[in-house]
Amino acid sequence: MRKKDYGLRVNKLFHIKTFGCQMNEHDSLKISALIKPLGFEETADPLQADLVLFNTCTVRQKAHDKAFSEIGKVIAAEGKRPLIGVCGCMAQEEGVKLLHRFPEINLVFGPDQIYKLPELLEIVEKEKRPAIATELINSAEDYHFLDTLEATRLNGPTAYVTIMKGCNSHCSYCIVPKVRGTEVCRPARDIIRETEFLVEKGCKEVTLLGQTVNSYCNDGVSFAELIALISKNTGVARIRFTSPHPKDVKDDLIEEYGQNPKLCPHIHMPLQSGSDAVLKRMRRAYNTTTYSAKIEKLRAARPDIAISTDMIVGFPGESDAEFQQSLDFIKGIGLDAMYAFKYSPRPDTEAFGMADDVAREKKEERLQRLLDLQNNLSKSKNETRIGLVEEVLVEGADKKKRGRFCGRSSHNRIVNFAGQEGLIGAIVKVKITKAYSNSLEGELWKN
Ligand code: SF4
Repeated sequence: MRKKDYGLRVNKLFHIKTFGCQMNEHDSLKISALIKPLGFEETADPLQADLVLFNTCTVRQKAHDKAFSEIGKVIAAEGKRPLIGVCGCMAQEEGVKLLHRFPEINLVFGPDQIYKLPELLEIVEKEKRPAIATELINSAEDYHFLDTLEATRLNGPTAYVTIMKGCNSHCSYCIVPKVRGTEVCRPARDIIRETEFLVEKGCKEVTLLGQTVNSYCNDGVSFAELIALISKNTGVARIRFTSPHPKDVKDDLIEEYGQNPKLCPHIHMPLQSGSDAVLKRMRRAYNTTTYSAKIEKLRAARPDIAISTDMIVGFPGESDAEFQQSLDFIKGIGLDAMYAFKYSPRPDTEAFGMADDVAREKKEERLQRLLDLQNNLSKSKNETRIGLVEEVLVEGADKKKRGRFCGRSSHNRIVNFAGQEGLIGAIVKVKITKAYSNSLEGELWKN
């Protein structure tokens, strides 16, 4: 059996594999920034690395299992074994059980313990034993938002800015409150300072991050006021946010959509089900009437607003009639885009105690029917953009086709077009010529 190697080489290499949501992506940036000063360089190849970190997700069983198999691959790989660290939501949920399952693991730490990484690496190196830290921090005084500005290096013209952590809601199917703790909101001045720092580095668009980002409140500053402050006090061109909870879409935020040109005309409004009975069992704290009323108000305040959503099919007890209500609601409300998932029972959630009685085939059939419906709706919505000129923030070049670029319109639609070098990071005008379910095609527009 290969011996555990705690010795760390100078100019060490690290590899980080990220699963899950934007919060995890941003945490991985912070983790990278924390260990680089320790003499680590990043490598894309886990087999070259001295340290391999898995930043995991546990929102669905699939993500959980995927991380297990990837950890297993690194352990089974030929050659010198790297140090192995597991962090993120699955690490928070599993904790010390991970070390029992994989004795080869050296580090386990939760999302609230990222700041401890240098200290944990030292324990591994000096005391030649695994290090673990999974305490949840639920007070603003003690929480480390790690806004070490070096952490927020730019990957192009867009960047995430974390404004809060945790969630105080208790949706019956969701494990997030258990693994991310209760809400802690970051001071507005720190968020503004970080945004201005990013703008100085060339950032055009920031996405404000939080589990229920629009429940933000700090020192009396509400979410809508925070957006107004960022708009007024920084040179950022575009502001987006994810992920909001429909119950916290209040009139002040809707007004902000009506009066703030920097706030992009797009909102993600996770509905989850179009059946009030299912929404009640999910403990979503709204029903289809209150949800529709907010959509109506948003469309009145910003008529061109694009709205996307999340849906879950096959929630315990979801009858054919309840699923039909979801189809009818989605057809009636006409949203622009959707992410849909099959219900996945999560331990330590209220729904885990409910019978997962919708057969897998039935879940798959419902998922396909819902996605087919939305794909048609999205295509019709996108077709209304043909002939219009969109403002597109160019995010990258098409790797396969030279001279092809892609970016996002202010409505969060992906736009592909032909152009010349040097466009990345610019906001350009593109006249739309073609529309698909998930993207638009266009040509550069010079008026
Ligand atoms: S709002 Fe609900 S679904 Fe979203 S993170 Fe909180 S508990 Fe989970």
